[in-house]
Amino acid sequence: MKQSMTFIPTLREVPADAEIRSHQLLLRAGYMRQNSSGVYSFLPLGKKVLQKIEQIVREEMDNAGAVELLMPALQQAEFWQESGRWYTYGPELMRLKDRHDREFALGATHEEVITSLVRDEIKSYKRLPLTVYQIQTKFRDEKRPRFGLLRGREFIMKDAYSFHSNQESLDKVYQRLFAAYSNVFSRCGLDFRAVIADSGAMGGKDTHEFMVLSEVGEDTIAYSDSSDYAANIEMAPVLLDEVKNTDLAKEIEKVETIGKKTIEEVASFLQTDAKACIKSLLFKVDEKFVLVLVRGDHEVNDIKLKNIYGAANVDLASAEDTKEVLGCSIGSLGPIKSAENVEVIADQAVEELVNAVCGANEEDYHYMNVNPGRDFSVSQYADIRFIQEGDKSPDGNGLIKFAKGIEVGHVFKLGTRYSEAMNAVYLDENGRNQPMIMGCYGIGVSRTLAAVAEQFNDENGLLWPSNLAPYHVHLIPVNMKDEVQAALAEELYSSLKKQGYDVLMDDRQERPGVKFADSDLIGLPVRVTVGKKASEGIIEVKIRKSGEMLEIGTDALVETLS
Ligand code: ATP
Ligand code: MG
Ligand code: MG
Ligand code: MG
Repeated sequence: MKQSMTFIPTLREVPADAEIRSHQLLLRAGYMRQNSSGVYSFLPLGKKVLQKIEQIVREEMDNAGAVELLMPALQQAEFWQESGRWYTYGPELMRLKDRHDREFALGATHEEVITSLVRDEIKSYKRLPLTVYQIQTKFRDEKRPRFGLLRGREFIMKDAYSFHSNQESLDKVYQRLFAAYSNVFSRCGLDFRAVIADSGAMGGKDTHEFMVLSEVGEDTIAYSDSSDYAANIEMAPVLLDEVKNTDLAKEIEKVETIGKKTIEEVASFLQTDAKACIKSLLFKVDEKFVLVLVRGDHEVNDIKLKNIYGAANVDLASAEDTKEVLGCSIGSLGPIKSAENVEVIADQAVEELVNAVCGANEEDYHYMNVNPGRDFSVSQYADIRFIQEGDKSPDGNGLIKFAKGIEVGHVFKLGTRYSEAMNAVYLDENGRNQPMIMGCYGIGVSRTLAAVAEQFNDENGLLWPSNLAPYHVHLIPVNMKDEVQAALAEELYSSLKKQGYDVLMDDRQERPGVKFADSDLIGLPVRVTVGKKASEGIIEVKIRKSGEMLEIGTDALVETLS
């Protein structure tokens, strides 16, 4: 590609509102431009990198047995009403009406659309399992869009969904996609960890996030270098494991997993014993109610509920119809995080409730009828609630470190959360209707691009790993007016292209300083400069990453590049 023919508007100045390196450099190097808050255009260079990441994702997904399709971004409200998320998703879901006043959402995610599609088409266990994926634009009206592509309001996601007739099949596909995700992020050159995550209000249990280690990450992860253990600190598996090993665990006989519960049942899970320093708050989020137990400091009106003990979506408004909640676990903050219009209905509500539950989203991890204060002291609780740096890893190997992480991927065993709500059933071998068991799997494709840019840069610009770079070689004739230089550059341009190299040639009539500065900024792996020694057939090769420079004869170029 000739630079005069493409569109790479570079900037000398650091754009004012770009706080982090990747955001600044992707703007300055002309990879993208902001349109409105959290909404970006990908310019030709950005689009090329995006395509390379998408290609890696496609290869790994196809290889894992998933098949690509494309669903609509414009989604009728009815699907979301069926799943219940029309009421619980909050203002992050972009909603609109058509000319007939029908309500729609712009796809923030596609569980509803795919579940409706599959329920209409698949009726028999013989057609399961099925794993599909798409790469598509998603819309989320984030409260705080920031850091460029890291948290956009319109962004590109690869989302996959799997459907099964039994748990083993889901487990197998989950493992396979987990491996595919590890491959994707390894191939992108990222330093990442797969961490145990919180399933929030989505129901289901097993879930892992893929976190790129980065100071600008918004999540905190606890991990150990000498073991496989890694968790989002929102999760408290350490708490649970430790609780399991205490006398408390032995005393508590009943261990049950919480799945869908009626409002009456959930009431019995939660307790409001103020003496035990647990506060119970009932929130109204849109039309839904959320019951939350909080320990320690919390701000009610600003909704900074840090030390969440337990939370549940409580469908009081339509309790008559559904009589169920979405699940309840430590750290379940999903619906509250995103709710802008949270109305506090009652402080220390439902005082008559007596029982508590502690646990996370894993089988056998929930203890029923636990009463903090009665069964274990609050300080004991505090000790075990948060894993600390320097703690022994729960698997006994090594010490815990903390790091900031950027969530680039998320895999999730959904179970029957959506298939039950939306009646996606199949006929089993005995001719009985069963809800399909589901998994969902997301990769933030545009976020991954920013995460790579965040990990690969130096003071002069970007440093793309060669498999993601928009072009392999930046070919720079220093002076385009010099006929010898221009001719040699042309010749090298054609021959490199013939050899299969993707070349960007700076054929602009710019000063050398401008060309070199732009070249460093854009960050292609290799720069080939055609300068004064062109007449002798000598050119200069610079490795962008190491800064290493060598002068070679033109005939040695291909060998040097390989
Ligand atoms: P976050 O915790 O950062 O808000 P999420 O948990 O809401 O992300 P998921 O619903 O798990 O996101 O979506 C799957 C993937 O989509 C995420 O792992 C992330 O990589 C990406 N993603 C989510 N929200 C955004 C966003 N606003 N901008 C860019 N990528 C996003
Ligand atoms: Mg989010
Ligand atoms: Mg998240
Ligand atoms: Mg997530």
